[in-house]
Amino acid sequence: MTSQYGNLIDGEWVSTPEVNVNINPSDTDDVVGRYARGGRDDAVRAIEAARRAFPAWARSVPLDRHDMLMRASAEVLARADDLGRLLAREEGKTLVEGVGEARRAGQVLAFMAGESLRIGGERIQGLAAGSDAEVTREPLGVVAVITPWNFPIAIPAWKIGAALAYGNCVVFKPAELVPGCAWALTDILHRAGVPRGVLNLVMGSGSKVGAVFAEHEDVDAMTFTGSVPTGRAIAAACVAGPTMKRMQLEMGGKNPLVVLDDADLDNAVECAVNGAFYSAGQRCTASSRLIVTAPIHDRFVNAVIQRLKSLRIGHALDPENHIGPVVDQRQLDIDLSYLDIGQRENARLAWGGDRLQRPTPGFYLQPALFTDVEPGMRIAREEIFGPVATVLKVKDYEEALAVANDTEFGLSAGICTTSLKYASHFKRNSEAGIVKVNQGTSGLDFHLPFGGRKASSYGPREQGRYAAEFYTIVKTSYTSP
Ligand code: NAP
Repeated sequence: MTSQYGNLIDGEWVSTPEVNVNINPSDTDDVVGRYARGGRDDAVRAIEAARRAFPAWARSVPLDRHDMLMRASAEVLARADDLGRLLAREEGKTLVEGVGEARRAGQVLAFMAGESLRIGGERIQGLAAGSDAEVTREPLGVVAVITPWNFPIAIPAWKIGAALAYGNCVVFKPAELVPGCAWALTDILHRAGVPRGVLNLVMGSGSKVGAVFAEHEDVDAMTFTGSVPTGRAIAAACVAGPTMKRMQLEMGGKNPLVVLDDADLDNAVECAVNGAFYSAGQRCTASSRLIVTAPIHDRFVNAVIQRLKSLRIGHALDPENHIGPVVDQRQLDIDLSYLDIGQRENARLAWGGDRLQRPTPGFYLQPALFTDVEPGMRIAREEIFGPVATVLKVKDYEEALAVANDTEFGLSAGICTTSLKYASHFKRNSEAGIVKVNQGTSGLDFHLPFGGRKASSYGPREQGRYAAEFYTIVKTSYTSP
């Protein structure tokens, strides 16, 4: 592959002098593709094109938007195997996970197609002085979409799908590590009939393209998913201009999975292993803190280790493997540094943590489980974003809840118990946006609202019909007889 996959600006595919060479983390000798690396000028041209396209698109017929999103959905679903393969190749998720994510992207587009037909309002008759009132929803304008590398097709699909469904124009900057899925999704939407300028893809760095999107006064709203520090920098830029942008920021997590001694042990182990280590732990909702009551602690730890021993780690495209590599050298270095930090903090590395060699050169790390972890340790407080989990032993449910909530994050939280009393109490008192009972902290439905609390999220929820709160403006009009 020598040609370059270009950016989509004002309906044209454009190449850039700089090239982003996309490497397979399972095999660093494998070049996935060469992609455009745009700069500040490309970002500005994309915003201007979106601004020009907005008035007509905002007035477009919802049924046309629906049909276009349905065509895109159908193609994503029909090509889910190929797209999943591309995803696995550029990000390192296993094939099963990659295909599952691609399918989810197709389903989200279909869901949002339906939502475009449900943009409703209210009419209130006979207010004071006999006036009537209407409450309606209008498109926001130009929405900047900035996405992370760890869900390279589902996250862009649920943000762009919602933005387009409600009549907004989009400028889209995906993470530089995963341009392939972003390009493929944009190409599908473009061929499905998204008009010129309505959807613009600008691949390039966060510090150049992303920063322009956050600063530019012709961008009306920012939907971002990524880390807390980047989210904070973007938020500062979004409010610095003459008109403050509407923001939806979905950020990191340090998600607790509480295991009580009355839990179904086999299920708790599955929840923990899947939640903490699948996708190489690179999920915002990863169960990175396993909070276990004392009577079940040793049995639980032993069973998790037995389960980890049965997992195969290797090339993401080999269907026999359960876990692929981590995404790049930088993430591997971060993971290894936390293994070091944990041991210096006197936590016990109960299993794993070895750098693995495989037939192809890649970023392979054996899943690592720390026990004897105290709530104040860095490994228990900071998001590592790799296959490294911590076990915190607690006395009882009350202490488990306190430890679960003792974090700056609040994305998802889970509890494994057969007690209705504790399950109900946890659902009410967990300080997370998503709470799960007898399920891992990951694995969420695309038609329900998604988002967290505290440092994990800012602004209205993503996904489901709640997405309308971010992607539309509510207008209240009064009419006198
Ligand atoms: P990141 O480093 O914060 O990057 C996210 C995106 O922001 C990338 O596209 C990045 O571009 C861009 N960016 C970087 N600096 C920027 C700036 N100054 N202005 C504008 N854009 C900028 O996060 P990541 O490493 O890709 O993803 C991992 C993080 O995402 C984790 O913290 C994870 O928990 C979080 N996450 C959260 C959710 C959720 O829904 N809550 C879901 C998935 C992931 P580059 O390509 O240049 O890096």
